Amino acid sequence: MTSSMRTRAVHAGRDDLTDLGVHAVPIDLSTTYPSRDSAEEARRIDVFATGALDPGMPVYGRISNPTVERFEEAMAEIEGFDHAVAFGSGMAAVTACLLAAVARGKRHVVAVRPLYGTTDHLLASGLLGNELTWASPETLKDALRPDTGLVFVETPANPTLSEVDIAALAELCGDVPLLVDNTFATPILQQPGRVGAKLVLHSATKFLGGHGDVMGGVVACGAEPAALLRQIRFATGAVLHPLAGYLLLRGLSTLPLRISAASATAATLVERLSAHDAVGAVHYPSLGGPLVAFEVKGDPHALIGAVRLLTPAVSLGSVDTLIQHPASLSHRIMEEDDRHGSGVTDKLLRMSVGLEDVEDLWHDLDQALKAT
Ligand code: PLP
Repeated sequence: MTSSMRTRAVHAGRDDLTDLGVHAVPIDLSTTYPSRDSAEEARRIDVFATGALDPGMPVYGRISNPTVERFEEAMAEIEGFDHAVAFGSGMAAVTACLLAAVARGKRHVVAVRPLYGTTDHLLASGLLGNELTWASPETLKDALRPDTGLVFVETPANPTLSEVDIAALAELCGDVPLLVDNTFATPILQQPGRVGAKLVLHSATKFLGGHGDVMGGVVACGAEPAALLRQIRFATGAVLHPLAGYLLLRGLSTLPLRISAASATAATLVERLSAHDAVGAVHYPSLGGPLVAFEVKGDPHALIGAVRLLTPAVSLGSVDTLIQHPASLSHRIMEEDDRHGSGVTDKLLRMSVGLEDVEDLWHDLDQALKAT
């Protein structure tokens, strides 16, 4: 982590506050913006209809919001892009990216497993009219077609934490945009846009918010895809609430410190889990980070029932440590064969390490492992 990332995480999206004479970011809850000049409003709507941003007053809450725009500006800067477009959840962001491919007339998507269960389901079900080919980094090039509009990958992936080489994949993609879901790594550990990804997506619900109390999604990208994503958001209504925009921007300011502290704790837990008799395998990314996956030799449900300090819950990225059984929760919606084929075994548990003391966490994990 560079010191400039820590600095920008605190100041991005807030650079004008001193000139405004305020310290906390203003929250604009207006759904509409009164004006006596309809002709000017017509001009502004014409600008927004192209997906462009207009620096003047907003017109309507589904088109733009100043608090949300601060979060977008900060995310773009931190992921190394000129633009970011925020949505009401991570899945709304995934949906908009798939619709964007369809809107360009390129409805074929190539994706690498594993992916978050609902993303896998959305892609595989064809609910949005996309056609899909699963590929590995080795078969990706052959899977591309003239109508391929998107290559979709998570790295480290949910829930096995397997990794792909983003730069190598981006090269294989050629002109086809590569989307990297960067929810697990966060921009603190990797910035996929700097090595060739054209779209970087987050479930902001996780580490960006960081406290388990706000849902959101965001896509950092260049000007052209951002304009299309804004048009899709305007037409489909998958907006981020301004209060959520405020909380996500606040979450960003502590993101570098949270990731660094949780990653150090996670590395210690990985060592101890690897040496534990009740644990069959431990998965931890070469990149590091707060997420750990491990397989128990015995009953994973017994561990979930036995934890007392760790929070037994789906989701991740909060200040408290969360643990869940992917085959029962995050990846339940997938067909069993597909789940197993993606490496999501019935023994696998996924843990998102928080900010508690490492010894307290180990004490709870160790006693819960005895129950398995
Ligand atoms: N991407 C990843 C990697 C996730 O883990 C999740 C949710 O768990 C999502 C996307 C979807 O995000 P949300 O739950 O905010 O819709």
